[in-house]
Amino acid sequence: EKGEASDLLKPLIQIEGVTKSFGDFVAVNNVSLTIYQGELFSLLGGSGCGKTTLLRMLAGFETPTSGRILIDGQDMTRVPPYERPVNMMFQSYALFPHMTVEQNVAFGLKQDGLPRDQVRQRVAEMLDLVELGHLGRRKPHELSGGQRQRVALARALAKRPKVLLLDEPLGALDKKLRERTQLELVNIQENLGITFVVVTHDQEEAMTMSTRVAIMNQGRILQVDTPHAMYEYPNTRFVAEFFGSVNIFEGPLLEDEPGHVVIGCPDLSVPIYVGHGISSREGATVYAAVRPEKIALSKEPPADATYNTATGVVEDIVYLGGESTYLVRLDSGRLVRVDLQNQTRSSEPELTWHDRVHVSWEHSNVVVVTS
Ligand code: ATP
Repeated sequence: EKGEASDLLKPLIQIEGVTKSFGDFVAVNNVSLTIYQGELFSLLGGSGCGKTTLLRMLAGFETPTSGRILIDGQDMTRVPPYERPVNMMFQSYALFPHMTVEQNVAFGLKQDGLPRDQVRQRVAEMLDLVELGHLGRRKPHELSGGQRQRVALARALAKRPKVLLLDEPLGALDKKLRERTQLELVNIQENLGITFVVVTHDQEEAMTMSTRVAIMNQGRILQVDTPHAMYEYPNTRFVAEFFGSVNIFEGPLLEDEPGHVVIGCPDLSVPIYVGHGISSREGATVYAAVRPEKIALSKEPPADATYNTATGVVEDIVYLGGESTYLVRLDSGRLVRVDLQNQTRSSEPELTWHDRVHVSWEHSNVVVVTS
């Protein structure tokens, strides 16, 4: 777990009760957040949730309506962008089309008045870092999308900012290249130790790259956690559904003891048992979240009493190579998604369409949330 050590690290960015309104509209609503030195931190959320506005306030392109932003202990709330120890890489990359790759990377360093030989050395270093040393004389239109992205990264890192802000850095790349570049970006970030704050709407991207993730909705942060904790212990229904696939069962809370929760669930026609307490009012409506890969399918009922079970019929099977997704229609009419690993190449699949099956999962694999 990469993020686990973050408690020991130094807070680099402290966002304290920051709100940003545009007229009557509140784009960022009372957000407080600490980002530690050396993190690759992602702001994740759907369109319009306020993540770009928050990033732009870190860069200094927007000023908070209220609240404070500290970077490295200094109050930066009203400091202009060029006086902050941060740099921003834009989604469009914004390379100068008439300049070569080298000139693009050198631009900011020359503006800062760095001596010529140091500029040359820094540019060479940065192009090596992004593995573009051999293309320094090319112009942006002579590069692929992935190469342009790397030039933009080299340029943004050349001044050695304490923080690099990246707005949808991989948005322009196709899926294959995106996945490869995610890992390259993590490598570069780890090598340099510079703190990255990444805005993305792509849950898988955030999961692959980040030490920690903040999930935003309607201007608020719902949860801040490592990818692992976010996936296994979502604190709300929204987070459970946004961060990965999930089955949600709704019902009244019948019993709530530490280590023992029972939820009445019309979808399953039996109660759900959960292996931990949730401290909510008995009778309140709660949601039980179960990830598709935590569910087993079998023709015989499971023998183990620590399982929740229901019966249904296989309605669809989607083959995905390493795994298959099964859609099972429960007797209540409710559809459940189950992901099973394809571990052998056996030609006879164990289950097929229209099979009657038992759906089951361990009590410990249920997360209960109240909203
Ligand atoms: P996307 O992924 O679509 O870019 P986002 O989460 O980055 O979404 P923001 O760009 O932060 O969203 O915008 C949040 C909300 O604030 C949106 O509803 C947007 O229309 C509004 N907004 C942003 N900038 C301004 C502005 N300068 N004036 C008025 N409203 C704005």
